[in-house]
Amino acid sequence: MAVYKNYIGGNWVPSSGGVFSSINPSTEKAIGYFQKSAASDVSKAVDAAEDAQKKWSNIPAPRRGEILLSIAQLLRKEKERLARLETTEMGKVLTEARGDVQEAVDIAEYMAGEGRRLFGNTTPSELRNKFCMTVRMPVGVVGIITPWNFPIAIPAWKLMPALVCGNAVVWKPSSDTPLCAVELTKLIEKAGVPKGVVNLVTGPGDPAGTAIVRHKKMRGISFTGSRDTGLWITQNAGIKKVGLELGGKNGIIIMDDADIDLALDGVIWGAFGTTGQRCTAASRVIVHEKIKKKFENALVNRARKLRLGSGLDSKTDVGPLVNKAAVEKSQRYVEIGKKEGAKLLCGGEKHGTRGFFYKPTVFTEVSIDMRIAKEEIFGPVLSIISFRKLEEAVEYMNAVDYGLSSSIYTNNIKNAFQAIENIEAGITYVNASTIGAEVHLPFGGVKQTGNGTREAGITGIEEFSEIKAVYIDYSGKLQRAQIDIER
Ligand code: NDP
Repeated sequence: MAVYKNYIGGNWVPSSGGVFSSINPSTEKAIGYFQKSAASDVSKAVDAAEDAQKKWSNIPAPRRGEILLSIAQLLRKEKERLARLETTEMGKVLTEARGDVQEAVDIAEYMAGEGRRLFGNTTPSELRNKFCMTVRMPVGVVGIITPWNFPIAIPAWKLMPALVCGNAVVWKPSSDTPLCAVELTKLIEKAGVPKGVVNLVTGPGDPAGTAIVRHKKMRGISFTGSRDTGLWITQNAGIKKVGLELGGKNGIIIMDDADIDLALDGVIWGAFGTTGQRCTAASRVIVHEKIKKKFENALVNRARKLRLGSGLDSKTDVGPLVNKAAVEKSQRYVEIGKKEGAKLLCGGEKHGTRGFFYKPTVFTEVSIDMRIAKEEIFGPVLSIISFRKLEEAVEYMNAVDYGLSSSIYTNNIKNAFQAIENIEAGITYVNASTIGAEVHLPFGGVKQTGNGTREAGITGIEEFSEIKAVYIDYSGKLQRAQIDIER
């Protein structure tokens, strides 16, 4: 079986820590061996990045943008191959994997255009003959740490703005998807990104990830993953520019005036798409009590019919969970839900004997204080909560530590606007599910979902650039701000 290497300073090199395997979650078979990097490997990558960063930031941003465009073109060309590889490595169904690669194409194209913008501002001075503006500078060497659930798109969401802003990066992908990372890196290399600008170091969170977080030369950290890891990073990164995109416990409100069939489609997609393993997955349905019974019956009927299997099979609706631990976690929460007094309507168990499959699971009679209604499960486990008034539904929606995505199904514009105004989340959809972010809009959440960073769109540039304020005094004399102002 193939042994894949780290990419440091433009060379594919072994690590000092041995290798580990990546497993196909449908078959439980290994698909390759990858470097189990140690802190010393991270240090080599940081040194290479430091060397390359100055030269890279010296290349005019429009030219950097052109290189990003080449990455986009290569991604487009390789879309099918990458999507199949992604399905094989982490399980999501092929149509979704194609979407994941497309998202990387989209962000590469969007950020390529930023090469000709990277706007600063001009603004008047309070003094005469003085000019004020802001310009953008790169952060420097940035550490990028990514999860497995969008193994091409999430890294691209970070790498593309980082590169166009003139940073060099050390990237550690999840140990569940190192092959996707190697293949994306190969395309970046092929597109002409200079040696040392992107460095790939595979291996476990500890020591490879922790070494990135703690490294003194690292000026920024961009992390997407669980809240617990995010919290650890905040406590250990020291003084660095840190961007955190963490978990979610997203809900869908269904009003009694909603189009129920439309809402049903949205709930099935939100809860069981990617087997519930999206940070924006819907894991709570907050449904009006008048339509609860009807909705519940229809939902269970649909959930039971979903076909589980390999994501490469075009008949499959729901692929496997990413690994054995994820199956155990879903099972643990099902037991917790039962003990808490929630009523299991369907699913609640593993599926088949090979592969990490778990049946789409629906609980009803769930109350907001139950753990299944509050904690991120990251599996196909959905809780139904009922309400009488919109205010109550919004209160339930907000009764969690997270605030990433949210949705309301209603045909009443007043309800829609009240939800937009009062839901505590970074994203609110109206008459659409909790998933479906587009790359030119800001992505991120409030409360324990993050620390205020928004990725994608123009806000993606904020994360990977520093702003410098520039004052140009052409008066030829000493002018003191606040003091020499004529009033
Ligand atoms: P983890 O936090 O377990 O891991 C994320 C990455 O961090 C992996 O590369 C992991 O390495 C690494 N890591 C683990 N511990 C440390 C550490 N102490 N220091 C540095 N790096 C570390 O999350 P998952 O991979 O399980 O991803 C699922 C989570 O990601 C969910 O909570 C989900 O909600 C969230 N997520 C958030 C998104 C958002 O934008 N808000 C989008 C997508 C997912 P390794 O696994 O190799 O050991």
